[in-house]
Amino acid sequence: MTATETPVHGLLIDGEWRQGAGVLERRNPARPSELVARVATAGPDDVRAAYDAAAAAAPGWRRTPPPKRGEILFAAAALLAQRVDAIGEELSREEGKTLAEGRGEVARAVQILRWFAGEASQPLGDVLPSAGATTFVWSERAPLGVVCVITPWNFPVAIPIWKIAPALAFGNTVVWKPSELTPLCAVRVAQVLTEAGLPPGVLNVVHGLPSEIGDAVTGDERIAALTFTGSTATGRRIQRAVVGRGVKVQLELGGKNPVIVLDDADLEQAVEQTLRGAMMSSGQKCTATSRALVLPGIRDAFAQRLIDRVGALRVGDPLLERTQIGPLVSEGQRDRVVSYLDVAAQEGHELAVGGRDAAPDGDGWFVAPTVYRDVDPASRLGQEEVFGPVLGLIAVDSLEQAVEVANGTQYGLSASIFTRDIARAFAFVREVEAGMVHVNSETAGAEPQVPFGGSKASSSGSREQGKAAVAFFTETKTVYLDMPSS
Ligand code: NDP
Repeated sequence: MTATETPVHGLLIDGEWRQGAGVLERRNPARPSELVARVATAGPDDVRAAYDAAAAAAPGWRRTPPPKRGEILFAAAALLAQRVDAIGEELSREEGKTLAEGRGEVARAVQILRWFAGEASQPLGDVLPSAGATTFVWSERAPLGVVCVITPWNFPVAIPIWKIAPALAFGNTVVWKPSELTPLCAVRVAQVLTEAGLPPGVLNVVHGLPSEIGDAVTGDERIAALTFTGSTATGRRIQRAVVGRGVKVQLELGGKNPVIVLDDADLEQAVEQTLRGAMMSSGQKCTATSRALVLPGIRDAFAQRLIDRVGALRVGDPLLERTQIGPLVSEGQRDRVVSYLDVAAQEGHELAVGGRDAAPDGDGWFVAPTVYRDVDPASRLGQEEVFGPVLGLIAVDSLEQAVEVANGTQYGLSASIFTRDIARAFAFVREVEAGMVHVNSETAGAEPQVPFGGSKASSSGSREQGKAAVAFFTETKTVYLDMPSS
């Protein structure tokens, strides 16, 4: 099929798939000559129409009994479960993560949908004591109205679901702007939800470049709340643009996630978990491990084993079962990560494995898994989010110094320690500045029932997922009920 014969997926507005102002083409990051999808892009008028639809649908959806909303989400989960293999493969083709990771992400999205479908039937509120002898007081959680959802490309199925499912379960309507790099995954998510029976206008999807529709997406006066995942710079810019209008904002942003390896760690476990944390999804995770802080007694053994394992990783076409590391999502992201390899060279860190010249041949957007030794924690490589398969080893002499270095960046998303010593593990848990802390496992999120998010520059607003999602997607309504006095 030629490019012009490939069907153009529409924008979802008021329950209809509509053509838009233009067409966006998405190519396979492992083979950029291969077209993956063509998708309609919105103009500002389309975005306004999406908000019109979301605002018009809000009263009806708000009044829909919560268990009924849950039924639709359960039906969506069942449809998605039937499509794990197909959508997982499209995800690999579009985003570049391996087939196992793509299918794993879709399977995880099914679990998230099921969890929030169940949440729609959970109690939401409290009965409260009152000083009035005959006064009955309770608080309940009410929907906010129209929620703007902005999602990145790195988990193009799971992240949208973990924002959209709670928004809908708790009675809000949604205008969603997915990343222009993963529009096909967005179409698949929206198809599953609409086929499950979502009424028109409850979910609207507008594709397009931020330069063309960014202001329209974030500028609509009817937005009650905005949830965003992406870079700290973009998230904060959007936050500044909307808070003056009283919009409730939730940001999930970057990370510079450390692991600390103590002398008594299980070496095999520490190496394998660090490898997974740093290299899976080609390091394109906000929770990716990017610094390993290692104590002297285990430093050489840890470094040697890790470097051997990283050097043996199979990089290539993510659709081949044997591949362990796929390409980066785009030429721009590849160039950005390569620019950090140049920074590392300028800063004089010792290249242990990988590097600029180790990427596989071909025209895909690959970067070889790369490890530097003796990284200065104050350097750019020690401080800035790279978002690629790049790990810095940092020498530390004590747990106290390790925690100080771990806390010494602007970020605070996830952190891990490897040790057999419970007392030192507890000391780490107490002192480390991170929203998600692990003992003897990789830096990561997220099960649907567990709050996800970070401290410092890694997040803003309430946590995502689990019971924490209620705090963001609803507001408290307090009710005083007194009997008529006669
Ligand atoms: P951005 O933060 O710029 O983009 C994230 C999302 O926001 C995308 O959907 C993007 O759309 C959208 N967006 C950007 N600007 C606007 C705007 N003005 N109005 C509305 N939506 C907007 O990240 P990038 O994709 O450019 O990646 C750059 C870096 O960000 C990465 O290298 C990484 O460090 C970090 N990042 C962190 C992520 C995380 O999980 N915390 C996820 C992705 C990136 P579009 O894609 O169409 O441009």
